[in-house]
Amino acid sequence: MTETAKYFVPGPTWVRPEILQELTRPMIGHRSNEFKELFRGINADLKSLFMTTQTTFVVTASGTGVMQAALENCVKRRVLVTTCGAFSERWYNIGESLGYEVDRQDAEWGNAVDPEALADHLARHQRAHYDAVTITHNETSTGITNDVAALVQVVREEAPDALVLVDAVSSLGGIPVEFDSWGADVCLASVQKAIALPPGITVVAVSDKAFERAKKHPYRGTYFDFLSYKKNADDDSVPSTPSIPHFYALAAQLEHIIRGEGLPARFERHRRMREITHQRTARYAKLAADPAHASATVSALTPIVPAATIRAEMKKRGFTLGGGYGQWADTTFRIGHMGDIPVADLEAMLDALEEVARG
Ligand code: PLP
Repeated sequence: MTETAKYFVPGPTWVRPEILQELTRPMIGHRSNEFKELFRGINADLKSLFMTTQTTFVVTASGTGVMQAALENCVKRRVLVTTCGAFSERWYNIGESLGYEVDRQDAEWGNAVDPEALADHLARHQRAHYDAVTITHNETSTGITNDVAALVQVVREEAPDALVLVDAVSSLGGIPVEFDSWGADVCLASVQKAIALPPGITVVAVSDKAFERAKKHPYRGTYFDFLSYKKNADDDSVPSTPSIPHFYALAAQLEHIIRGEGLPARFERHRRMREITHQRTARYAKLAADPAHASATVSALTPIVPAATIRAEMKKRGFTLGGGYGQWADTTFRIGHMGDIPVADLEAMLDALEEVARG
């Protein structure tokens, strides 16, 4: 009997049983030829996933670790953070904790970051000389997808020396990420969202320009030193002992994503899941985010019935939904429709939700 997905949290997401099985394979040494072969295949597929010819690698840490790493490698003094919710705000908190001068360009919760407002900010702060600008592709707390291509273009025009650091944690594998054509410098994604693996590693793409910048920062630390990751990646290797079970699972999952389901079909399934979710919840819940920028991987909804009641009643029926986040914690609940969830399983969950949410 095939297992059906009943777990609709916006990360960690439901993991297919055959992928869980990959985590139980026998160990190999991370300096062995078998590991090199495994990693070579992973990196070739990561380049397809990030749509890049530049360097990719894998870090054994959650996404927050690599957000910190991106700042440590690319920023000496000052960074501009674009925010539109709790996770984009995380860049701000990390930057402050590292002692940088951190400026912010805020969009209201539920809205996307406005390229014109960003252009205006950069034009007014020409002398700030930002080392980097951060962008969150998909804001998981509100269910908004930012127009990264337009935002990067603004940075290139108004602050050409600034590197662009992109969080694609809840988009990569569900929404197209076009690292090279965007012109981004760092793009990172932990794997427990649309890539549908258990949490524990983060995949990264880094531009040649970002490596050049890192060379100018002598105190990059050791564990998160991007230059060390690049030197090792060029030799199909990693700087220190990685979570080898995750590498097995990542290889199998990339095989599925790229040559099994295929990226165009995967992106289309995510768009369909968004449309179905919107259509079927419209009678009893309002989409909390601007529909023009609504995410294909997560929807935050403001229901008629209290959100906590909905989640508790759904739990009784075997379904787990996500809670509201941050300033929307009490008023919304979230449906994660990302990763490997089959459309039919989403529909079955929405059948149950209809009974609960219409009161
Ligand atoms: N960025 C976004 C958009 C997220 O959704 C999350 C986690 O939910 C993070 C960053 C943090 O990632 P991690 O929990 O892997 O550190």
